[in-house]
Parts: sequence; C-alpha cells; structure tokens
Amino acid sequence: MMLEMINGYAGSNPQADDRVERTDDRSFVVRPESEDGDSNYKFAFDVTARNKSDRPQALSLVVDWQEPPEVGTTYMDDRRSIFVIGESVFDEVSGRLDGDRARFELDIPPGEVRICLHPPFGTDELDAFFTGISALPGARRITYGRTAEGRALEAGWLPAEERADRCVLAIGRIHPYETAGSYFIAGIADLLATGEASPLRRDTSFLLVPMVNPDGVAHGLCKRTTTGAELGAEGISSSDPAASALNGLVCGVAAASAQAVLIDAHGWMIEEDGPIFYSSAVREGTLGRLDRRLFPNGLRVSDYSDRPADPETTDLRRCAVEQLGMSVLVTSHPWFGRRPDDMRKVGANLTAAFLGALG
Ligand SMILES: [Zn+2]
Repeated sequence: MMLEMINGYAGSNPQADDRVERTDDRSFVVRPESEDGDSNYKFAFDVTARNKSDRPQALSLVVDWQEPPEVGTTYMDDRRSIFVIGESVFDEVSGRLDGDRARFELDIPPGEVRICLHPPFGTDELDAFFTGISALPGARRITYGRTAEGRALEAGWLPAEERADRCVLAIGRIHPYETAGSYFIAGIADLLATGEASPLRRDTSFLLVPMVNPDGVAHGLCKRTTTGAELGAEGISSSDPAASALNGLVCGVAAASAQAVLIDAHGWMIEEDGPIFYSSAVREGTLGRLDRRLFPNGLRVSDYSDRPADPETTDLRRCAVEQLGMSVLVTSHPWFGRRPDDMRKVGANLTAAFLGALG
C-alpha cells in the first residue's frame, strides 16, 4: 500500500491511533477529537499523509466530525475546505458535505503532506518567529512562565527606542486550533520591521506572544489547556499556570504604562473577519484606516462600548478594559482563501490601524 496516514505528533488532531481508520488501499476515515465536546470550537484537524511511491497517488479522505443529533450539520459549512501542505504543494481543497462528514478527493505527491483545517503554526514556526524578532534592534526573547507540562511561555519584547509612552501586549492562541492568531501576531513583527513603523518603535513598547497555550497546541486541543482552563472568557478565575502567567503579564503591562493596550487575536470559524471593539471612536478610526483588499469576505464588527461593567467578570479582556483601563482589541480572522502571508498582512494592517486610531 503506497499511502499511509500519520497522526499522534505534536499538534495533530486526532492524537489517538484508533481515530484513523483505513477503509481500503487509498481511503481513510478520520475522526477528530475534542477535549470538551464543545462543537463551537471543534475545528482542530491535522494529520499527515505519506506517499511511499515516486508518483502522485489519489487519496479519498472522509473527515467524520461525529456531531450529536442536536448539533447535526450546524458547523459543517465551516469545515468544507482543508489545506494540503508540503514541500512542493500548498492547496486549499473543497470537499463534499454529507451530514456531519466531509469527503475530500486529494492528489498526494511523493513524500509527506500535512492535511489540515488550519495551516500549522507549531514549535518550528514559533522558533522562526523568534529568529525574525531577534533581528530587530533592541528585541529580546523572554520567558514569562511555564505551563502545567513545563513548556516555556515565551514573548518577544521590543522596548520603545526613546520614550515608552505606550505598551502593547499582543497575544494569540488562547484557543489552540486557531493558528490564524499566531500568524496575526507574526504580522505585527513584520509591521515593526518596516520603516513605516519607526515612529511606533520610538514611543511604543511591544510584547508579542504568538502562543499563550503551548500545551494545548502540542496536544492538538480545540479550546482549553491540558488542565481544562479556557484562557479568555474564564481566564481570570483559573489557577492553570498558563492562565496565571498571562494574567500577570496583562497586569504588569497595565501597571507599567500610562497607555496600555491588549490585542487578542483569534481564528474562529466564521466566514467574515470579526474585530470586537470596546470604544466606538476607536472602532470608527480603525475601520477608516483598514486596507479593505485584505478583508475580501467582509467584516462582522462588534462594539461592546455600551456594555455595563461586570465587576465579577472572569473574562481576561473585560478585566483589562473595565478594571485595568487598557485599550483592547479582540479580533478573529478565518482562512477561507487566505494563506499564512495574507494572515500576517491582516495582523500588520489591523494593528497599525488600531494603534493609529488610539492616537
Ligand atoms: Zn478563539
């Protein structure tokens, strides 16, 4: 048999061998896993196909999402295309939906390809990010904590070159499957490497964290850390080490800077891009500065500026706005036709627009 399916590596989903089933020489059924069964976050899928021959081989792949009857096909349209990524290939392939299953007919070149719902951003890409950061003047790679499994929690620290009037903390990957968030943060580093950003570098410090949940990423999780913590909406109430370290980072930035900013980048599965603002003036200013060509599927803009404060909130972003007085942007960007470089441009443009709107 020329084709094999590989899973169980860092970042793969499913992790368990028995969720990959060979049905004939060139056909497999794969059943993704979810750590808590929340279908609204069940979008982690990443396996590797190995073609042992020296010519392309046809692969018939069924991804069986195993939704409960009450969920049914609710999320299937967002699972209709997958990426095939290898040394000589980067394709986004549409499948045929049948209930809670999606069937893909793929051409697998010789060697190995990743087949995934989201272009991977794992430890290799994280190392490449830090290598890029280290080329910027004054930049440092810092460790701000350790996860429950002992992985380093790392940030790129770029202190302001003259006066630190403002400090921006930008985070991605609260939810492990949302690789778009990591690429968005990498795009901020791209922005800071350009001459266009030199006024920003003079008076603004940046703390860039592309992966705040590396344990979840390594285990191919959808929403939580390995201890069951959700770092966003429940982040303040959690004793998970990654949550505590992140809370400390947010409080530290707020305490250290008169104008503290939090950018929280996601990649949930809605076709439109989804920035969430906490100030109507900043919303207007940001939208007016966007390069609309980078957002071809439209924007689903949310504005939480009129929402009454909740002193009991467990939400990291609400706490940052309501209790710490930070300027916050939560944002989400889906793939659907994009590649990693496009996502980086989204991160650069939206961040420049948001910071421009803050003044
Ligand atoms: Zn998310």
